[in-house]
Amino acid sequence: MIDADKNKEDIKLSEILLETRNLSKHYGHHKAVDNVNMHIKKGAIYGFIGRNGAGKTTCLKMISGLSKPTYGEIEMFGYRGKDLEKVRTRIGCLIEAPGLYGNMTAYENLNIKCKLLGIKQKGYIEDILDIIGLNNVEKKKTKHFSLGMKQRLGIGLALIGEPDLLILDEPINGLDPQGIAEIRDTIQRLQKEKNMTICIASHILEELSKIATDYGIIHNGSLLQELTRDELMRRCSERMEITLEHPRQAVPILDSMGFVNYQVVDKEHIHVFERLNESAQLNMELAKAGIMIKGISIISEELESYFLNLTGGAKHD
Ligand code: ATP
Repeated sequence: MIDADKNKEDIKLSEILLETRNLSKHYGHHKAVDNVNMHIKKGAIYGFIGRNGAGKTTCLKMISGLSKPTYGEIEMFGYRGKDLEKVRTRIGCLIEAPGLYGNMTAYENLNIKCKLLGIKQKGYIEDILDIIGLNNVEKKKTKHFSLGMKQRLGIGLALIGEPDLLILDEPINGLDPQGIAEIRDTIQRLQKEKNMTICIASHILEELSKIATDYGIIHNGSLLQELTRDELMRRCSERMEITLEHPRQAVPILDSMGFVNYQVVDKEHIHVFERLNESAQLNMELAKAGIMIKGISIISEELESYFLNLTGGAKHD
């Protein structure tokens, strides 16, 4: 049997780089972010997914110190409260559109920030240009850049100072498929080559699913779910869904029939991920054991519809 609590244990066992506790931001009576408990593991690409207005940007602004929580706590790199200021320099962020000087090249834009931070290392800017794939546009002024190039330069600016945690808010918004692929490639390189932890907010689960290792799903200011890539894939894979009153009672029957790939998901449901053509036989064996089931069906859910169901129906952005 697949252990439903395994993911939570995984989170406990791995090193947590950032955690929020009841993080909240209220604007008057409006709860933009409401008691969010988020966990980002070291080395993860954390996909922070939610529709427009769900509270992603507000959360990320509080984490990066651009906005103050109404209440709640943030802990990162083992620091919290007033001590957080000591480690905020370890965060690089791209929230909303990057502030670029249009009359300057990518190199010159990066150079300004390097000077501000007192970074003089030879080859430093060239390395960043290399990572973000802008090493071939030396003379081009950024006002002539495509949206994707501007976003990549925004990521480049966030990389100055070699942050351990990179926060990217909707970096693929408005990009064409090639632009999206380039950003994706940049993010994966940063995780693999620089061992960076990356939190990337988006409203497109399909795109995040190509790179994210972990997910947090936010809706109306509340974090509905945190799950690993494996858990998400399992939830979206084809399965037999059995509805019954006491799922645990069915476990010995499933075991005796040789089922191993199944999960008791809550007080009313078991998901079986194998031998989907044996539902009638399973139904019969359960009935013989005196276990009456309320329903048995084969479910196949697409990623996007999983997200839409969770966040309440058809998309409206
Ligand atoms: P989007 O991708 O559209 O930016 P989001 O998930 O990032 O969505 P937020 O920008 O965090 O959402 O906004 C969450 C909610 O808080 C929204 O209802 C928004 O209108 C509200 N909000 C954000 N900033 C403010 C503010 N300064 N004053 C009042 N309300 C705000």
